[in-house]
Formats: sequence, structure tokens, C-alpha cells
Amino acid sequence: MSILISTTLAEALGALAAEPSSMVLAGGTDVMVEVNSGHRRPDAVIAVGRIPELRTWSHDAPTSALRIGAGVTYAELEREPFPQWVPALSQAARTVGSPQIRHAATLGGNVGTCSPAGDGLPVLAALDAIVHLVSVSESRSMPFTEFMTGPKRTALLPGELIEAVSVPVLGGWQGYAKVGVRNAMVISNAGACLAVDDSGGVRIALGSVGPTIIRCGDAESFAASVVDLRAGSVTDADAIEFGRLAASAARPIDDHRSTAEYRRHAIAVLARRLLRRAFPNG
Ligand SMILES: Cc1cc2nc3c(=O)[nH]c(=O)nc-3n(C[C@H](O)[C@H](O)[C@H](O)COP(=O)(O)OP(=O)(O)OC[C@H]3O[C@@H](n4cnc5c(N)ncnc54)[C@H](O)[C@@H]3O)c2cc1C
Repeated sequence: MSILISTTLAEALGALAAEPSSMVLAGGTDVMVEVNSGHRRPDAVIAVGRIPELRTWSHDAPTSALRIGAGVTYAELEREPFPQWVPALSQAARTVGSPQIRHAATLGGNVGTCSPAGDGLPVLAALDAIVHLVSVSESRSMPFTEFMTGPKRTALLPGELIEAVSVPVLGGWQGYAKVGVRNAMVISNAGACLAVDDSGGVRIALGSVGPTIIRCGDAESFAASVVDLRAGSVTDADAIEFGRLAASAARPIDDHRSTAEYRRHAIAVLARRLLRRAFPNG
């Protein structure tokens, strides 16, 4: 097995162009599990964890957009300024694995694996995040919801790397919540991110309850018609109906972690609670 520890983006892209079947290794918290269990036997590995261009982030004040390099870790996303600018992403980061995992695991790796249970992903879907891809010959960008094409399936082409993800800094409340079999070191059985955008629109995206991350259009339209933005309030009955609509958008399955029925119930509870937290008055 050949191993290249790249220190520049150009070097990694050149190596990937020469050998597109190479395994890209960031923090290794997903791929090393696959290698150790024998599910993956790469001939060539390109390590991208030491590429400074992937490890940086920037904030564009005029457009209020935050560009987060693929190599930024969950431990970094837990710390300022992220809790102030993208609180839901910081909350999701805090729920990932253990401190050791979070120091190695990157946002780009979560996007690269694209498991429906990836904790960062409902946040990216709710925020209408853009994924930036790069190869030796071109750069392209697409909404996260188009990038994720199925469970662990993406629109990434051979020879491409995920360079960064852009998210808007929104003015409204946002939060992430998940349900698992315990409170820490757990893959979610159901997860949801709710974000209130600058015009007061409510966005909600679900994880672990379908082949991809699911945006809940009916629940979002319903919320827009019932929440009182000025008072910051929603009635209990409307919060329950919001939860019901979110749960009806879910397409969960029974598997070794949970049942479809429990997952749907969990989404109804999570969505209702998140809406109540966003609009606590009344
Ligand atoms: C004990 C344990 C607990 C965990 N708990 C959680 C949890 O609670 N929540 C959760 O969401 N996940 C969890 N995970 C999974 C994992 O930590 C995350 O998915 C993490 O974000 C992966 O990032 P990484 O940098 O380690 O990716 P890697 O393992 O290095 O790579 C993951 C995939 O992305 C690709 N990739 C990485 N970077 C790029 C890039 N720049 N361009 C193109 N492709 C790229 C790789 O080729 C690979 O296919 C856990 C894992 C372990 C081992």
C-alpha cells in the first residue's frame, strides 16, 4: 500500500488525478473502521489531514457566509466563534463520539461518508449549505441536498476532493437534537435540526430516518403560518401538529439500532421540542 501524506492541496489533487481509486484519509474515524474490519483494502492512501487550505475557515461579512474547510474538526466546531455563528453545528459537533473522536473527525469526513446518521448533515441540510468540490481541472459547488444522493452515496466524482462547505450565518434561533440508546458515544436513531432564517422562516431537516437527510416542506409551511414571530410564541397544539407533520415526512426503517415506529415517534417529539425552544413564549 502506498501512503502519501499531502501538505498542499495541489499535491493531493495531483496524486488523486494520477490514481483516482486512492482512499482519501482525513481524521480516519470512518475509514479506519472499514479498513480494520476488512471492508476496505486500498492500494493507495492520500492523507489530507495536514493540508492547511482544508483546515481553515473564513467569514465573509458582506454576505454573512461562513466557509468551513473540509479538514476542520468537530472539536474546533465546538469552540468559538462557531457556537455564536452556527449554534446548531456546534451542538451537533458536541454529540459526535467522544473528545478523542472529535479531535480527529472532520466535517469533510462526515460529508464524505454521507451516512444518514451523520450528525453534521441535518444541520447542513437545514442551513441550505453549499458543498465546494475541487479537482486538478475544475472547481464546482452544489447544495448539500444535491450532493447526498443516497445512504453513503454522493455526487463526488473520481479525482475530486471536498474542499469546503459554506453556510449562512442566520439571525434566528437554531438547534440540533438527537435520540440514541444513551447520552454519549452514540450513533443517532433519529436526529433533527431546526433553524429560523432571517425572514422568520422555519427550516427543519431530519437525520437517521431515511436514505438521505430529509427536509420537511409541509412542517416548514405549517410553522410559517402559525408561529408569532414578534411574540416569539407558538401554541402547544400547533407545536404538536408541527411534530406530527415532521414525523410524516420521515421514511424510517427497522434495523439493528431501532424500529421505524420508534424513530417516527422520536422525530415527532424532537421536532415539537425544537419548535418550542425556538418560540418559547405563549
Ligand atoms: C467511536 C466512533 C464514534 C463515532 N460517533 C459518531 C457520532 O456520534 N456522530 C457522527 O456523525 N459520526 C460518528 N462517527 C463517525 C465519524 O467520526 C464521522 O463521520 C467523522 O465526521 C468522519 O470524519 P473523518 O475526518 O474521520 O473522516 P475519514 O474517516 O477520514 O473519511 C470519511 C470518508 O470521507 C472521505 N473524505 C474525507 N475527507 C475528504 C475530502 N476532503 N474530500 C473527499 N473525501 C473525503 C474519505 O475518503 C472517507 O470516504 C464515529 C466514529 C467512531 C469511530
